[in-house]
Amino acid sequence: MTLNSALDQAYDTSDTGFAPIADVAQARRSRKTPSRMKAVALPGDGIGPEIMEAVQRILIAGGARIDWTVCDAGASADAKGAASGLPSETLDEIAKAGMVLKGPLETGVGTGGKSANVTLRKHFELYANVRPARRLPGIITPYMDRDIDLVVVRENVEDLYAGIEHMQTPDVAQCLKLITRAGSAKIAEAAFAVAKADGRSRVTCASKANIMKLSEGLFKTAFEDVAATYPDIASDHMIIDNLAHRLVMSPEDFDVICTTNMNGDIISDLTAGLVGGLGLAPSANLGARMAMFEAVHGSAPDIAGKGLANPTALLLAAIMMLRQGGKLASAERIEHALYVTLEEGEDLTADMATPRGSKPASTEAFADRVISNLGRRSQACPPAPKSSLKLHDGPAQTTAVSAKTDRSDAGVDIFVEFGGGPAELASCLKAAAADLPFTLAMISNRGLKVYPGTVPMADFADHWRCRFASRAPQDDLPEQDLATLMSRISNFARWCHVERLQMMDGAPGFSVAQGQ
Ligand code: NAD
Repeated sequence: MTLNSALDQAYDTSDTGFAPIADVAQARRSRKTPSRMKAVALPGDGIGPEIMEAVQRILIAGGARIDWTVCDAGASADAKGAASGLPSETLDEIAKAGMVLKGPLETGVGTGGKSANVTLRKHFELYANVRPARRLPGIITPYMDRDIDLVVVRENVEDLYAGIEHMQTPDVAQCLKLITRAGSAKIAEAAFAVAKADGRSRVTCASKANIMKLSEGLFKTAFEDVAATYPDIASDHMIIDNLAHRLVMSPEDFDVICTTNMNGDIISDLTAGLVGGLGLAPSANLGARMAMFEAVHGSAPDIAGKGLANPTALLLAAIMMLRQGGKLASAERIEHALYVTLEEGEDLTADMATPRGSKPASTEAFADRVISNLGRRSQACPPAPKSSLKLHDGPAQTTAVSAKTDRSDAGVDIFVEFGGGPAELASCLKAAAADLPFTLAMISNRGLKVYPGTVPMADFADHWRCRFASRAPQDDLPEQDLATLMSRISNFARWCHVERLQMMDGAPGFSVAQGQ
């Protein structure tokens, strides 16, 4: 069952359901007993168990009827030998429930296995990471007087986070940045779906297409194709660094921001900072078949086990989960209680209390205070979303190769490790290719063309891109000749990888070097 059809079913029997607000009012009048929602709780690492406990208590007190399955994930599961800290039972339970509230999971920095967070997102194709940043009452920040209400919709499974890395030489590392047209179109659709569900009027695509013309350029083009199908919602494009600057200067100007994985990771931490910090920022990881909700922050090992953690971000994430699961009434009740608590400023955790100059409370006391405020309403609380968020539905799919694209080969880039200089390398390469159908067209070092010509001021790594043009461009590379060329190159250098230079519909499917 897909997420959307599961949610449609939930609507039939839930207290409120997925529907425009008018239908919700009608559903509220219905006498149906609210159904129970199934969800997996992953308490996770560090402060995870403390904030999960606090949030679950608030949800129960707020009337959210949820059948929880609590599962193991993260550092403790990793220590027991589960690959990426995710036991297969946990993955099975998540697949069954389709809905997850997740605490933070630790990842070793620069060492160890794959991140459990990234693995979860990829395993369940949770391609859309939705991170709202909204001014909260009573939270002291340099931006507290600014009307910030925006959502970052970040692509969640591609880009540099595909995690495809290779050491090219002992001193040169490479990470592949993979952007697909289908993945970019899906996240653009998700951004417009967020805009529609929230009644928002503008979606801004943020990319670095000015530098990464093919990868970020493909993202931008796919976004623009999707934007054209939403004439009622304005759209524009901004270079990501300018967007970062504009976010700091005038965050109230933004509505929905749609961007690639790494850009979105960084920008959404920035937007969290604008409204009070990581302890207050929720996120939803959404796909066609699953939804996982979590705080943006990590496991905060510095305060774990001390009762200091702020559960607000996870609570806001849980409120998003309730709405996605059709539990609109309990979501609204809990959200108002949270806003009243923040507004009045009693029993706030240290991160919120200290800037106000008030006495900090424990995680538990904060949760108690929210519970005691259930049933009260806050003027500062935003209106509930206009409708549910529905993403592209359907089974897992493989995108077919576009048969319409006319392709031919222009040559090949061979990346080699070589300890000498460019002139010496060029003369060896030319000799190696002399009787083969390849011409040495260019050598670059760290993306800068170093042959033909000279670059006296540049430092060189021992990693060179050697571009050979096919002497007679044809449909297929002469692979036997390529094998001969590589075998000859191995006599004076060590090749690390090879890239086919493809022409697509007459345009180069490869970048030129700086200075070429
Ligand atoms: P962090 O978010 O855990 O902590 C950064 C700072 O914010 C710390 O000073 C911390 O005390 C504070 N903080 C975070 N959450 C808070 C809360 N709820 N209440 C009060 N203060 C809070 O970032 P980090 O230290 O870089 O990462 C720690 C671990 O968490 C790493 O292993 C990292 O990989 C992991 N992590 C997991 C996720 C996730 O599960 N989605 C996200 C980010 C980091």
